[in-house]
Amino acid sequence: MPKAKKSLGQNFLIDPLVIDQIIKHVNPDLTNQFLEIGPGKGAITERLINTVREIHAVEIDGGLLKKLSQFQNNGNFHLHNKSILDFELDEMGDKDLRIIGNLPYNISTPIMLWSFKNLSFFKDMHFMFQKEFGDRLVSENNKKSFGRISVITQYLTKPKFCFLIEPESFSPQPKVESVFIRFEPIKGRSFDDPITDKLQEVTRIAFMHKRKMIGKSLQKILSENELSQLNIDTKARPENLSVKDYVKIAEMLA
Ligand code: SAH
Repeated sequence: MPKAKKSLGQNFLIDPLVIDQIIKHVNPDLTNQFLEIGPGKGAITERLINTVREIHAVEIDGGLLKKLSQFQNNGNFHLHNKSILDFELDEMGDKDLRIIGNLPYNISTPIMLWSFKNLSFFKDMHFMFQKEFGDRLVSENNKKSFGRISVITQYLTKPKFCFLIEPESFSPQPKVESVFIRFEPIKGRSFDDPITDKLQEVTRIAFMHKRKMIGKSLQKILSENELSQLNIDTKARPENLSVKDYVKIAEMLA
């Protein structure tokens, strides 16, 4: 067996009970078309393959292709040897894709951005992350974990924390706990609509100085008066505003 490559974030799942839990939460059926990011040695793939219509698996590591090609006998398995970040969905046609991935943790942020840009193709997304990163995606306001990516994620999707996974469930073991999260895209919202654009701008400015009052941080783009009109406390810190507050600001500016 090839050695796990740290640079590609390879932590292979080895705990069958965790894979059971994943399958239970994803609840696949024979009408579903799946896109799997980083199938690795196929720990999740082998449990999905007979219960779904089709799987497209995108794996960057050529050293794993031999192992993964065993699934090709099934007829519903398509292997793409490239980075998910270069994978174009246009040719796939289906607008109801379900994505799943025990993601390479070192590129979680770029993969989330890639997912947001392609959101209209997806019925839902199920991802595994390092706990600290996952916490930021699902975080409510008034918490340390609340930041730009919480706002953008929760504007575009409805995230749901599913369960925690201990390092012992992987080989090699990561240093930290992991989480499994489900995301449902919110209809009518997209990464390139004007509100998302403004949300990005506003959150970038607001979270640049976490201790600064929001009225002061945002004064170049919005007066304290306008913030008060939106029922937002100008003395609040950026992590005190809710996603709804940020959306109200973005709507006013868009
Ligand atoms: N799903 C498997 C493997 C998880 S490890 C399991 O649960 O056991 C993460 C996997 O993502 C590895 O196989 C790694 O090679 C792959 N990977 C890393 N960077 C990638 C990228 N940019 N695009 C696609 N796959 C990638």
